[in-house]
Order: sequence, then C-alpha cells, then structure tokens
Amino acid sequence: MNRADFPILKEQVYGQELVYLDNAATSQKPQQVLDAIVEAYSTWNSNIHRGVHHLSQVATQHHEEARKAVAQFINAREPEEIVFTKGTTDAINALAFSAGELLLHEGDEVIVSGLEHHSNIVPWQMVCARKKAVLRHIPLKEDLSLDIEAFKSMLSEKTKLVSVAHVSNVLGTIQPVKEIIALAHEKHIPVCVDGAQSVPHMKVDVQDLDCDFLAFSGHKVYGPTGIGVLYGKREWLEQLPPHEGGGEMINHVRWSGTTYNELPYKFEAGTPNFVGSYALQKAIEYVEQIGMAAIEAHERELTEYCEQKLLGVGCTVYGVGQPKVGVISFNVGTIHPFDIGMLLDQQGVAVRTGHHCAEPLIDELGVPGTVRVSFGLYNEKKDIDVFIAALQKAQMMLS
Ligand code: PMP
Repeated sequence: MNRADFPILKEQVYGQELVYLDNAATSQKPQQVLDAIVEAYSTWNSNIHRGVHHLSQVATQHHEEARKAVAQFINAREPEEIVFTKGTTDAINALAFSAGELLLHEGDEVIVSGLEHHSNIVPWQMVCARKKAVLRHIPLKEDLSLDIEAFKSMLSEKTKLVSVAHVSNVLGTIQPVKEIIALAHEKHIPVCVDGAQSVPHMKVDVQDLDCDFLAFSGHKVYGPTGIGVLYGKREWLEQLPPHEGGGEMINHVRWSGTTYNELPYKFEAGTPNFVGSYALQKAIEYVEQIGMAAIEAHERELTEYCEQKLLGVGCTVYGVGQPKVGVISFNVGTIHPFDIGMLLDQQGVAVRTGHHCAEPLIDELGVPGTVRVSFGLYNEKKDIDVFIAALQKAQMMLS
C-alpha cells in the first residue's frame, strides 16, 4: 500500500532491501510529511499566537488548523478538546499530574491494566506516591485477555480514574475499552485510553468510545516525533488544573497571582511544536485519504497471515485467538529474543526485541522478553515471507 511514498523504504541495510517491521516503535514518514517540515521552516517559520506580523499569523493559522484536523480525525466535539503534547508519554504525565491534583486523596485508587506500557504505569505510580493513593491493575486471564469480572469487583467509591491501553504494544490485542468505559461510567469514574497503538491502525472515535481522555503520539501515525495529543472532554479539561506554568498558558500574571488561559492553551505552556502539528496534520490527511478502515483491514490481514506463518514454523505466539491489529510477539523455543533480533537484522529485517517497555506483562509471560513484529500501511505479505525465511535461517543457526 503506497510504499513508493516512503523514501526510507528504498534504503538498503547491509546491502539488502530493508524490511521494516518495527512500526509499533515508530512508523516511517511519507514524502508529504517530510515536505511539510521543509515547507514550514523554509516559508513561514515564526512563533505563534504572540505576533502581529504576517508570518506569525500564518504559523498560528496552521497550528490551529492542525488542531481542527486532529479533532475531526478522532471525532472530538470541538478543537478546544485537543491539547498538543510531545507524545503519549507526555500526555499521560500531564493528565496524571493534573488529575492527581483534582481527584486524588489519601486512600483513593487509580486502575490500569496488567498489560500497560510503562508510560501508562509510572506516571500513575508517581502521582499515587505523591497523593498517598493506590495504583491497582486489572489482572490478565490465562489467555492474556483482561479479567473484566475482576475489574468490576475492583471498582468502588475509592476509584478515581481508570487508564487503559486500547491496543497492547506487546501483544497487539485490542482491548474491550468500550466495555471498560461503560462500567466505569456507571460509577461516574473517568477513563483515559492510551491510544498509542490503536490510533495508527484503526479508526478511533472518542465520542463512540465515550472515553474522557485519549493520548496518542504523532510519530506512530506517520507524523514527526515530538508531537502528540491529549484529548479530553471539555467538562474535564475545564476542571483540571494546568500541569506546567509559563508563557501561553496564562491570562494575566501579577505578583499577587496568575489567571490561566482558556482551553486548550491552559495546558500548552511555552512555544508549542507548531511545525510538528502542521506535519501531523499532513500525516492525518495522508492516512485519511487511504482510509483508516482500509488500513485496518490491510494490517489485520497481515497480522493474521504472519501469525499463521509463525505458528507454522513452531514459534510460541502470545495472545493467539484474540482480535489483534498490527503487532505480534513471539519466541522461538528457548532462544533468547535478542539473538533472533540480531540475526534478523543482519538479513535486513528490522524487528524489536526485549520487554517493549512493558515489564510487568513480560514478567507475567515468564520469559526474558519477546521478539515483536509490527506492521505499517506500507508492509506487504512479501515482507512477511522475507521475514519468515530469515527467521528460519536464524533458527537453524541457533539450534
Ligand atoms: N503507550 C503505548 C501503548 C505505546 O506503545 C507507547 C510507545 N511504544 C507509548 C505509550 C509511549 O509513546 P511515546 O514514546 O511516543 O510517548
């Protein structure tokens, strides 16, 4: 799909054609996004919001148009519900700080799940330590799905927030976030969805999910690094205090005290990444032109194809039998995943090995790590065939 738009895919690795299967870590960028970055710095670079001059007005307009594009992409009610951040990690840290200030008191509880990325665990651990609150996690069942019955029994008047991944960055499994949100809402508990691995692979509609917050990273959805999004329902963003102070986020500053700006600027202290937001808009336009439904269908097909191939050559694949998109983790007998990754790399196949920033889940799997392959819209069955052949070669060399 649209492979020719991605210049890096023409690169060679050790004299071989690159097979890039590390899209969950970051995706490659189409020419349209690369051009947007050059265009921004070459023709209208200027700090936004504060200037009366022409370039500043152009830059401001681009940044605010990008906000509208993001709002429309995830179906937010209004652009003011879109806060630009550095990425998912930054978005969750911002939310954890602010929500901690507003909602958490001694003995209160925050619930995450047993398969979270560290960036949806550690910020909550930090805020819970600060507020003497407790971080709990939804346990996993034998098949590595979330134990929803256990989750139901964990919800109480002590629960102040739930934050869960939409798609596991290790297993690729799609989590029942809509059900989790509905259950939490029965008790008026807000829910944050970590969309880092769902937004690039499927249509995410915040109104349909009814999530209170959603975090995602631009660089995983074919945009640049250093830009991400925290979506929040207006009623929550209005109530939450800012997590950072500085320029832009203020209304007036006096020695006697400061008043804060309106949404979303209250949460955007300092010069924002306006080149990043512009390039992210181009990435969004790019995927929307293809269609998120088409991207999801294509990647689901690749995921199923690859999973079958891996099972066929005797690999242990994690989370088999559950709906997955874009990501597969596996091991080859007791061979260390790092050794497999190195031998694949030498054959031009880029995969990721290790704990994938999800140590609690890897501990639960009882392995030192996994090999992870993850797909982007430009991957093809041919990539998987090359990868499987390289894997069999590695397997032979190591056993
Ligand atoms: N959550 C999930 C599920 C992820 O996969 C990642 C990135 N691997 C993150 C959060 C963190 O994203 P970032 O590093 O872009 O902030």
